[in-house]
Amino acid sequence: MNSPNNRPDDWSAFTKVKTERADPLYESAKTVHNKRIDGPFRRFKWLVMLVTLGIYYGTPWIRWDRGPYAPDQAVLIDLANRRFYMFNIEIWPHEFYFVAGLLIMAGIGLFLVTSAVGRAWCGYACPQTVWTDLFQHVDRFVDGDRNARVRMEAAPWTIAKLSRRVFKYMIYLVIGFWTGGAWIMYFADAPTLTVDFWTGQAAMAAYITVAILTLTTVVLGGFMREQVCVYMCPWPRIQTAMMDEKSLLVTYKDWRGEPRGSVKKAQKNPGEFGDCIDCMQCVQVCPTGIDIREGPQIGCITCALCIDACDKVMADIGRPRGLIDYATLEDCEAEQAGQPARPAWKALMRPRTFAYTLIWGAIGLGLLFALGVRSHADISVAADRNPPFMLMSDGSVRNSYTIKLRNMESQPRRMEVALSGLPGGRMWTETISNDDAAPSQTFEVPADQTLSTRVYVMAPAGTEAQEFTLDLTTLDEQRESDSAATKFDAPGDN
Ligand code: SF4
Ligand code: SF4
Repeated sequence: MNSPNNRPDDWSAFTKVKTERADPLYESAKTVHNKRIDGPFRRFKWLVMLVTLGIYYGTPWIRWDRGPYAPDQAVLIDLANRRFYMFNIEIWPHEFYFVAGLLIMAGIGLFLVTSAVGRAWCGYACPQTVWTDLFQHVDRFVDGDRNARVRMEAAPWTIAKLSRRVFKYMIYLVIGFWTGGAWIMYFADAPTLTVDFWTGQAAMAAYITVAILTLTTVVLGGFMREQVCVYMCPWPRIQTAMMDEKSLLVTYKDWRGEPRGSVKKAQKNPGEFGDCIDCMQCVQVCPTGIDIREGPQIGCITCALCIDACDKVMADIGRPRGLIDYATLEDCEAEQAGQPARPAWKALMRPRTFAYTLIWGAIGLGLLFALGVRSHADISVAADRNPPFMLMSDGSVRNSYTIKLRNMESQPRRMEVALSGLPGGRMWTETISNDDAAPSQTFEVPADQTLSTRVYVMAPAGTEAQEFTLDLTTLDEQRESDSAATKFDAPGDN
């Protein structure tokens, strides 16, 4: 006799079986042929899929006018020039902390989503989920819905079956190729790279990258599918550690559903059966092929398609929806004790979620503030140390330096560099004669570039070794400024 949750009461029988036939170390994966379903969660999944794929494939083709001196691609990782462009934002290598900040925000965002709605990332927006869903739709398009696919898999190999397989795998390859092709567009001007790619003029790295990504997309999304989530991805394990009794999960309410029995049996024996009619619809629509009635499990990505399926069954047989539903363990216990079901959205209102939101928002605001106040011009200086100084025939002392003037605007800028803290000091460069030496000099810095130049600084006889600064001011409307401290070496200094 089985207990209401269908687990055997006679554990000795279970032990006996275990002793006689040990579990195999390896069980072959069974292909999941999930069934088509419609419902609010499926429609939401469609929406997320369209938005995420649209963003991924479409973003490199968005143009963004930055003037004649910068690329006009809205999102571009320009490795050759070491720049990252994202609409109005341009990140230079020395500003990598912005990228680090975005990565931290992404990490905290995942914690926030997990604390609020459990594994919603896995169920809707994770690339593995999105591409697996796409490949499952291809299966349905080519071979039909679940029953047709099950029959097709069991059927002997014929020309018709072979040609369908070839056709399906061709579509897989096109999707994989498109995915790899879209990836490389983020690293170069998309229209130019497309022409170069098809005319054989692109860099070898582009062809190799597309080939690798085509292969990984087809293997991970087309063939391995749910096995990536169950066996390869570390995130479900991390998430499990982050969840508690207040986390939202897709839950089968066994106290309401058990013992299972068909509608006919329930009509014949009123009061003896629960609401679950054992129709298996929840299992058949599941993209990872699990039975949520067996309780929370790592294979459940909380996509909620089983909720759609079960709600439809409940509507058809005239019983209340929500036999499978988003719920927290705490709410389940309260509901089981006879209290009314709490709306799922109330589970979002918890201190942990607010704390993550606050941290996430604070980092975001901090990054926005840093972006808003950052200077688009700066100066750095390195003193030549060999020799540290030159003593001229009139007793004056000359030092030489390499200065770098950075112009982060997408237009050329004039910048003035002035000596400060070095009385009587004058400067000139390799292109400005020492006849024109002066306490300040003006430089023309090309758009979006760093000008590196050697400068000579002369101080009158008797000047002692001392610290001084080079002050930079842009000669445009912004009047941005920066300064760099360095040392002036002179005789007698050790
Ligand atoms: S869909 Fe609902 S009624 Fe059908 S087996 Fe699943 S839980 Fe039971
Ligand atoms: S059990 Fe339900 S929520 Fe979990 S993966 Fe399957 S269909 Fe999605």
